[in-house]
Amino acid sequence: MSKEKNYVDIFQILTETTRKTKKEKREELLAPLGIKEFFVDGKIAINKRICQGVECKLCIEACPTNALFWKSGEVGIVEDLCVYCGACVLSCIVDDCIKIMRKRESNKIESFSKPRDIIMLESQINTKKRFERVSDLFPKIEEYLKRYGRINIK
Ligand code: SF4
Ligand code: SF4
Repeated sequence: MSKEKNYVDIFQILTETTRKTKKEKREELLAPLGIKEFFVDGKIAINKRICQGVECKLCIEACPTNALFWKSGEVGIVEDLCVYCGACVLSCIVDDCIKIMRKRESNKIESFSKPRDIIMLESQINTKKRFERVSDLFPKIEEYLKRYGRINIK
């Protein structure tokens, strides 16, 4: 086995261990709150230059996990408590002030930074769900034709 191969393996092990430790820590912190995680990973950032801070604090009130807090005249984040729900972005009075990127189990990445983004995202998800429900209710064209004997599908 080459030196380079050893290095890659060790790096991967370290990365996986860090990810596992982070996941365990999050589970421990979120368990007492009874909050389920829907996303496998994510990132949150607040642009302190455009945040209205002391006059606002709406995001802190909206956060269901207390991941946001007021500290030394600005909004602080405990990333380990953030479940990337988007409630803070929905309540923020400044577009692009809070930026969230989150990854679903399906590996789909979603990112948003203003209420309008979340509303559009929810609308897309609901449309997809509605389409899937309708598809489940009605037979596909091949099944329909097979059922009524118009074509022979083996
Ligand atoms: S995304 Fe949700 S959990 Fe994370 S800081 Fe915003 S409101 Fe809190
Ligand atoms: S809601 Fe937006 S503007 Fe208000 S304190 Fe939070 S990040 Fe700043």
